[in-house]
Amino acid sequence: VALTREDAAALDARDPLAGFRDAFVIDDPGLLYLDGNSLGRLPVATRERLVAMTGDWGSSLVSGWPGWIDFPRRAGDAIAPVIGAGPGEVLACDSVTVNLFKLAGAAHRDGAIVCQVDAFPTDRYVLEGLVAARGAELRLVDGLSGLDGAGLVVWSHVDYRTGELADLPAITAACRDAGVPLVWDLSHSAGAVPVGLNAAGAEFAVGCTYKYLNAGPGAPGYLYVAAGALRDLRSPIQGWFGQAEQFAMERPYQPAAGIERFLAGTPPILGLAAAEEGARLVNAAGIEAIRAKSLAQTALLIDLADAWLAPLGFTVATPREDGRRGSHVALRHPDAWRITRALVERARVIPDFRPPDVVRLGIAPLYTRFTDVHDALARLRDLVAAGGHESYDLAPGRVT
Ligand SMILES: *Cc1c(COP(=O)(O)O)cnc(C)c1O
Repeated sequence: VALTREDAAALDARDPLAGFRDAFVIDDPGLLYLDGNSLGRLPVATRERLVAMTGDWGSSLVSGWPGWIDFPRRAGDAIAPVIGAGPGEVLACDSVTVNLFKLAGAAHRDGAIVCQVDAFPTDRYVLEGLVAARGAELRLVDGLSGLDGAGLVVWSHVDYRTGELADLPAITAACRDAGVPLVWDLSHSAGAVPVGLNAAGAEFAVGCTYKYLNAGPGAPGYLYVAAGALRDLRSPIQGWFGQAEQFAMERPYQPAAGIERFLAGTPPILGLAAAEEGARLVNAAGIEAIRAKSLAQTALLIDLADAWLAPLGFTVATPREDGRRGSHVALRHPDAWRITRALVERARVIPDFRPPDVVRLGIAPLYTRFTDVHDALARLRDLVAAGGHESYDLAPGRVT
């Protein structure tokens, strides 16, 4: 590769999104953070907003609820443009895990549930529980083919391990043609890759806000139900926040008319504020501009990996075609775990490790610079070339 550090700096100098980096708290400039696909950085506005929100809570106490109660819907409306949805089609609440249980439970008809064999574990666990309760079959598949006997499909837009991007419009159309409901998991794409739910005619989706939406640890996820798909769907978790007249109390359960029927219990107000701020930043930058920069940076990362890391035993597990990858790059290496530890502790680069042999490097275009990509790969090359990982323990720790 001809790319030098000066070339990378020149790319930063003409990057139209460069200014967004200042919107984030970055108190250690020497640390190269390439794990925004696991937990995004803290936006400055979110820190200020959370201080203000705790002030509101301290002074208004319970009388704050009239202002807070519609927050899942308001935060959902802020997220909607990020994923190509309209107002009233997105609700920010609960975790991805719980939202998947609610939507899959509501949308599943008789028949097998179909899911990727390499889906994120929580997705599989939820579906295993659902089929066990319903006496249905769980079909774990490599690719989508043959929907005979299927009663629900659950599919990830971007594969959390390899970074492969699924063809959302084509899979959505295939399921629609077969008459099988489909729930998308957008956790690894929303905020980095345009999703275009309405344009594809997608009916259901779930996703999280703490990865590319930068809403922070434990911030709520969201669920999407297309306006026309709500019909008579019922959440399998019947809670008082989903009840038509919540404060009439003591009524028989009757689901709310809109998407609010998918609320369960009291929403996490501080996390919702963080989710709204995170979505605002993504919308201010524009998802198409974010995608263009993400593709340029993942392409650069792959080029540098080919040139510098392939001779050291690394292989690129992420598709090389632009249209087939999300915003992180997976590098396989037999010593991936020890290399990950050494990268963090000796080279001050933060990736993450996914078993058995993957080092993931995430691009978050709102704050990742081209020089960060260049420098991180140079540090990785130098570390492994010098055997800097060889003194590390072979056994992975509790959080990888
Ligand atoms: C991150 C992620 C999740 C996380 O689920 P939580 O319930 O929010 O912990 C689920 N699915 C996928 C595909 C993810 O990438």
